[in-house]
Amino acid sequence: MRAPPALASAVARLGTESAFAVLARARELEASGRDVVHLEIGEPHAATPAHVAEAAFAAVRAGETGYCPSAGLGEFREVIADELARTRGVPVPVERVLVATGAKPFLLFTVLAVCEPGDEVVLPDPGFPIYESAIRYAGATPVPLTLREDSDFSFDPDELGALLGARTKLVILNSPQNPTGGVVPAADLEAAAEHIMGTSAWVLSDEVYARLLYEGAFASIASVPRLLERTVLLDGLSKTYAMTGWRCGYACVPEPLVEPLVRFFVNSTSCVPPFIQRAGIAALTGPQDDVERMVAELRVRRDLTVAGLEALPGVTCRTPGGAFYAFPNVASVGVDAETLAARLLEEAGVAVLAGSAFGAAGADHLRVSYATSPELLEEAFARMGALLAA
Ligand code: PLP
Repeated sequence: MRAPPALASAVARLGTESAFAVLARARELEASGRDVVHLEIGEPHAATPAHVAEAAFAAVRAGETGYCPSAGLGEFREVIADELARTRGVPVPVERVLVATGAKPFLLFTVLAVCEPGDEVVLPDPGFPIYESAIRYAGATPVPLTLREDSDFSFDPDELGALLGARTKLVILNSPQNPTGGVVPAADLEAAAEHIMGTSAWVLSDEVYARLLYEGAFASIASVPRLLERTVLLDGLSKTYAMTGWRCGYACVPEPLVEPLVRFFVNSTSCVPPFIQRAGIAALTGPQDDVERMVAELRVRRDLTVAGLEALPGVTCRTPGGAFYAFPNVASVGVDAETLAARLLEEAGVAVLAGSAFGAAGADHLRVSYATSPELLEEAFARMGALLAA
């Protein structure tokens, strides 16, 4: 007998997101009759704005259901260029704007397009797990940039400077941040840009939570003069417009990356469905009241979450400045964070994630996604309190 067919060894280097695994286990428990409060998945509580959904329905009715250009519809790319230029305060050439099936393809394909074995990629630790997955898959080396809890999960620009070297191919930044809700101050982004300009590294600035900000004005590293030339400025519809399932993200990318990224799209998804892009045009150009309402609701839930977590024995929690995640420190609870997360799900019916799933610096923390109703949040904290008191 011949040996069974084998997988490519690189597949073993491809990581995953624990949120989907925990969600699957939570659903199993629910199927067996248990009640679970979901604080694991990173998804807005709100519905997609009605006028946005209507734009998609109208486009389907009008027959816009075929293939379309892989870079995105020209009209949508123009709307995105205007939006990015307005919100980041820099000229954004429409030829460099691309549309993909979510923000995620830009993460994977950018890393695949620029990294080779031996290259180093600086990434936030803790950080969105797909960064490390893509870097390892490409055979490159992840270089963690520690986010400091005592700086509300921002980083020290000089620490970033010390990590940069001749082998640094890419620097990934994310603000507002998953999993901590941290926001990098504008002055620190400017200092980071200074360091990066002295290297030949690309930058990927993941700004998918740009509009989910509770204090101050949004700051992007791409606003620093000349940095956009080497930056993938990434945003999308998923979080801002409660459109996670629609799969539509967009970016302004450096000129040399335009054609390679489009080729990755041609080789994988071909294009974002045109009716989804019509919805995207409606989202970016139509009324923004739904977004404003959602952010106001999230602010209330954030405050309720920080208060609820701080009231638990052994738990402390910084106040997140953006996104919809809290990252409480559970080092003093008396059980490690992985065990605590597992017991919260299995015994108390509260689904949260262990912080270590986001990198070594996430140890001793939980990630709590508070984009759910205030009633469910209260229920979750009551259940957590009962478990910790037992
Ligand atoms: N970047 C960050 C930091 C995220 O948290 C997420 C989703 O959780 C994504 C990117 C992926 O977004 P999308 O749904 O648009 O692919």
